[in-house]
Amino acid sequence: MSKQIFSKEKIKELINEVNTSFEIVNINKFSNDITIDLLIENFTHKSKSEARNNITEVLSKNFDSTLNFKINFKPKFVNKEDSNKLNNIKNIIAISSAKGGVGKSTVTANIAVTLSKMGFKVGILDADIYGPSMHIMFDLVGRKPLAVDVDGKSKMKPLESYGVKILSIGFFTSMDQAVIWRGPMATKALDQLIFDSDWKELDFLLIDLPPGTGDIHLSIVQKLSVNGSIVVSTPQIIAMADARKGISMYRQQNINIPVLGLIENMSYFNPPDDKKKKYYIFGKDGVKNLSEDFDIPFIGEVPIIQGLRESGDIGRPGALQEDTELSRVFEDITRKLIINLTERNTNLPPTEIVKIKTMAGCS
Ligand code: ADP
Repeated sequence: MSKQIFSKEKIKELINEVNTSFEIVNINKFSNDITIDLLIENFTHKSKSEARNNITEVLSKNFDSTLNFKINFKPKFVNKEDSNKLNNIKNIIAISSAKGGVGKSTVTANIAVTLSKMGFKVGILDADIYGPSMHIMFDLVGRKPLAVDVDGKSKMKPLESYGVKILSIGFFTSMDQAVIWRGPMATKALDQLIFDSDWKELDFLLIDLPPGTGDIHLSIVQKLSVNGSIVVSTPQIIAMADARKGISMYRQQNINIPVLGLIENMSYFNPPDDKKKKYYIFGKDGVKNLSEDFDIPFIGEVPIIQGLRESGDIGRPGALQEDTELSRVFEDITRKLIINLTERNTNLPPTEIVKIKTMAGCS
């Protein structure tokens, strides 16, 4: 057989012969090295290795032997069927922070219990795969979700605490076990939490995202129609620098998830023994100014409250309290969030599930 000269079209044709479901993202040639980036659905080691062997074989047969083929795989998500399974969830809200330790999980937990107090059906998906904390904040350490049968399929039943349904990777790891996963493993675990679970009817599913703008974020927007996002930050300059990146990620043309608003956490400290004093430990109004810069609604501010930290540690979100400063702060924030969400749902079409082809712009 006469050998072909290099041609992207021919490579595509040959890869399609091996498997029509492979999606070719990129083909690059540097000298004699040809790099091919593919999306594949079955992202197991075995199927990747089989795919690599089959593709290399067919390419070597057809092209000159001086060419070296390097094949990279990324997981391909099949959206249609998966997304249908979440039709019983009315609103999905992603909560992110760009920087770690700014109180994103604390804010998520307290908004969730406030929504539940208001009578909504609420779930939290703790997608902070590398540092899950919802199992601690909701006093569920050591508990494991049960398997239930749904239409002949085994599903995870979210655990419930204070009226909030919760699934977290924290249910499957021990407290002192570090989760060191590669991107694809983490997204696979997340897939199970999202799709192999029996959420039943929910008015709100809050997704507590890991800090940053990485794989997990992209994986979520590829699979779920997220109504909107909230970005939590302290007013500190270095936290806000990261928050800017987070906002830009949602606003990228190919992601395009409306940012419902910004929440400033740890805005100030009001000492209990002198209520007139306010200490702006992390700076003043930083997030408010950021929201003006980006023309994004400012949802509210949460002061540093010792009771908020303590209640998180003992596993009973502080906003469950009745008629305290803490519960009022979260009632205001939650009300504003609902208003912004309703406005978004009225004025904008549903968010499309994203088909991201490159990681450009995302760290
Ligand atoms: P993140 O999810 O951004 O990593 P966490 O919600 O885990 O952050 O919060 C980090 C720490 O700060 C926790 O110990 C939490 O209890 C505490 N914390 C968060 N917000 C406040 C606040 N407003 N007042 C007091 N402590 C807070």
